[in-house]
Amino acid sequence: MMKRIIWAISMIAVLLMLCAPFAQAEENGRNRYRMDVTLTEKKLPMRRMLLEIDMTVDVFNDSADAWTDLCFRDYMHSYIEASSIGGLLMKSGVEEASCGGEALEVAVAEDESIVYVKLNEPLGPGERTIVSLKYKAHVPSGYQRSNFGSVRGAISTATCELSQFYPMLAIWQDGKWMADEYFSDGECFFTRCSDYEITLRLPEKYTDVIASGDEQPVSSADGESVWRITSENMRDVTIVATNEMDMLTGEICGVTVNSWFSRNSNPDDVRGEMYLETALASVEAFTEAFGPYPYGELDVLDSNIEAGGMEAPGLIRINQMYGAMLMDLEKDSATAQMLQQEIRKVVAHETAHEWFYGVVGNDQYNEAWLDESFASYGETVYLRHVGDNGERVKEDMRMYADWSLGSGLTVDRSPKELGGDYITAVYQRGASFLYQLERVMGEDFTEFIRAYYAAYSFKEADTEGFLEMLAPYIEDNETAQGVVQRYLDRAKDLY
Ligand SMILES: [Zn+2]
Repeated sequence: MMKRIIWAISMIAVLLMLCAPFAQAEENGRNRYRMDVTLTEKKLPMRRMLLEIDMTVDVFNDSADAWTDLCFRDYMHSYIEASSIGGLLMKSGVEEASCGGEALEVAVAEDESIVYVKLNEPLGPGERTIVSLKYKAHVPSGYQRSNFGSVRGAISTATCELSQFYPMLAIWQDGKWMADEYFSDGECFFTRCSDYEITLRLPEKYTDVIASGDEQPVSSADGESVWRITSENMRDVTIVATNEMDMLTGEICGVTVNSWFSRNSNPDDVRGEMYLETALASVEAFTEAFGPYPYGELDVLDSNIEAGGMEAPGLIRINQMYGAMLMDLEKDSATAQMLQQEIRKVVAHETAHEWFYGVVGNDQYNEAWLDESFASYGETVYLRHVGDNGERVKEDMRMYADWSLGSGLTVDRSPKELGGDYITAVYQRGASFLYQLERVMGEDFTEFIRAYYAAYSFKEADTEGFLEMLAPYIEDNETAQGVVQRYLDRAKDLY
């Protein structure tokens, strides 16, 4: 018997050792989404993609307040509304919510992208609860952030892009849920890094699934394919399903970079190579300038989105129109070269968002400069890294600095305050601000930005936090203090 007891004790010890890492993972303070996602193509009365999600969210109350409800964002509602052919045949919404088998009341705000789920019992600070939701939405055709169509413009092939496609838990801040309106001219998302386990079922004809994090095919039978997507510690998840792209791959700084581009037989179509080369050089440039990229993979894809490019954790999308336009231009012509330069800047910009937005998060609606200005400044970091003419970068930055300078507009403002100056302020002027700061701080800037990136990794930065971290680096640098005061409202009374 003794032997068995010793055996039992040693087994318990082994089990305790095995359990320790899991116990730690339990306490990482992150929300955990488990989703069963099904995509079904509907042909009549028009071609549409139906998205159905059965999900549970293991919610962690990371605030000092008790929560009586949870706020989820249904951005598919905004995409359908913004879609020119959305209209009557498309809708989205949380159909059911429950906790521990008990139904929960679902209340939709006047802005229907804001959904409140009332808890039967308050969730105290530091506590967890698991909420189940049933959700349905149509994926609009067209150019929204989530869309269904073809990147080749062909009827025989298809691509479905899913972004902000699931009910996303909002952030509780200063005693309330942060739920600003949907804003299509820029980003407006604000979420915590979370863990995701997704099972995706979709028509078998979609041969490739590309997602934030890791994606693996599980099975394929009876016209349906099943994929498993695991995304750990990511701010959100984007998934693209396609049967019309080719892929090139490379590796740098321990990161696998995959370039996915619209399949065609034109030998002059070099976008795949350009996406890959630019993303590889960008990862190298930003690792050096800001710090390491924490995920194993980065996917760059052709996309039907309206914007030039779009960021998501571990995945960036580039408007396929650039590549299509490039094929029509005479090779090596000045216009073709300008367009190639533009494509490189877009790829570098979106890649920089992996660092600022993906890893260092921010309230993209109220303080867009914290990711957009950094991503635009990232373009200059990339250009100088690949040996582009530094004088031209300098000239661009001088021009950006002048734009809207007369209006006295600072960059740390919301789209409501900036109005028509939003783009010039948060992209161009913001990039110029960081560039000037780099010039007047020298080595101190590199040290500061690396420290800032490390301190806010997997967290959300704000302007106050930025200024607080910057303060010791510029306490004896009056020129830098002047630059900060010119561009940031919140620095007006600091120096
Ligand atoms: Zn951007």
